[in-house]
Amino acid sequence: MAMARFGATAAGGVNRQALSAEDFVAQAELVRWGEALGLAASRDRIGNLFLRLPGTDPDAAPVLSGSHLDSQPTGGRFDGVYGVLAAFEAVQAIIERGVAHRHPIEVVAWMNEEGSRFAPGMMGSAVFAGARTEEETVSVRDAAGVSVADALAQCDIAMAQVPLRALGGPVHAYVEAHIEQGPVLEREGIPVGVVSGIQGKHTFRVEVLGEPSHAGTSERRERKDALIAATAMVQALAAEFHDAEDITKFTVGRFEVFPNAPSVVAGKVVFSIDLRHPRSDRLRAMSARIEPICRAVQGPCEVVVTRLSAADSLEFPTALRDRIRSIAGRLDIPSLDLPSAAGHDARYLHPIAPSAMIFVPCHLGITHNEAESAEPGDLAAGARVLADLLVELANEPARKESE
Ligand SMILES: [Zn+2]
Repeated sequence: MAMARFGATAAGGVNRQALSAEDFVAQAELVRWGEALGLAASRDRIGNLFLRLPGTDPDAAPVLSGSHLDSQPTGGRFDGVYGVLAAFEAVQAIIERGVAHRHPIEVVAWMNEEGSRFAPGMMGSAVFAGARTEEETVSVRDAAGVSVADALAQCDIAMAQVPLRALGGPVHAYVEAHIEQGPVLEREGIPVGVVSGIQGKHTFRVEVLGEPSHAGTSERRERKDALIAATAMVQALAAEFHDAEDITKFTVGRFEVFPNAPSVVAGKVVFSIDLRHPRSDRLRAMSARIEPICRAVQGPCEVVVTRLSAADSLEFPTALRDRIRSIAGRLDIPSLDLPSAAGHDARYLHPIAPSAMIFVPCHLGITHNEAESAEPGDLAAGARVLADLLVELANEPARKESE
């Protein structure tokens, strides 16, 4: 609640967009809290913030834990910030109990997870992990024309007291705590979710090309009606991807008709496809069927299917998930395995280090909304499991360079 003051909205939510003045104030506050515990703050060139608790082996790669402090324009008080503060609480508990650990433990706040001011999201973690280049990232502009590079220059001024560190580097393990952003845990009355993986998402642009003609004079056999063809495609795709279990998510969210005039046969239609499934093999197989299905019902029109993005589903290592489950059991905290339907920074850490996520319930699954809400007891339960997991990970032997 103390962090929710920064960017607080009248409706009880948070507007703390990436690299905004509110974001800098929140980061500076976190640095102050860290200094009070003796944690060393540092930041990298892309705007990620770290608070480091040294371990007994100064050469060991750090165990990272955190999430993001930025929010949607009408965001809530828990999305992202919970993961940063759960890691902070865990580190505080480790210090106060004097628990020994070999690896350093670092609390991290990744830059621009939300992607609302600067798109796409998860910029800080993607650049840290080498999945996106710094060059392509800093040239992105917000709606006001401000580039990420400009905003990072503001960050340099606002956060001048925090020393810079090198971008990237080895990570021993990464654990991200987050609100579920779905209704399952609350409905089941379970405080801790063991996240099996992150659901993939493939997006497409479908362009249906017909021929504009007079609504009164053109004959049916001569018509190339792009709207009739496009609606047939949407219906055929919806039927194909209908899933009685409601796991496959198929959405046509945009549908544009040209020239969009009442007395003209549509000459062109462009529509979007957003397709998601927690299993990559299924997602890829479904993606591959899109073009043939569209072709089968194109009639006299032409169709061009373009894939815009293809983030596959990922599965977190079983060994880490088993440990979260057994730690929760040891602490008498009920837990449940579930996939993440939304993307998180852990997506980008997963390829470079063993990664895991811990979910806690949020009320009715409402998120990206000022009404976002969570129970203190559940948040504490997630942080307790996280603390024990961080201690276990930070006491593992160092992995070899080659691994
Ligand atoms: Zn988030």
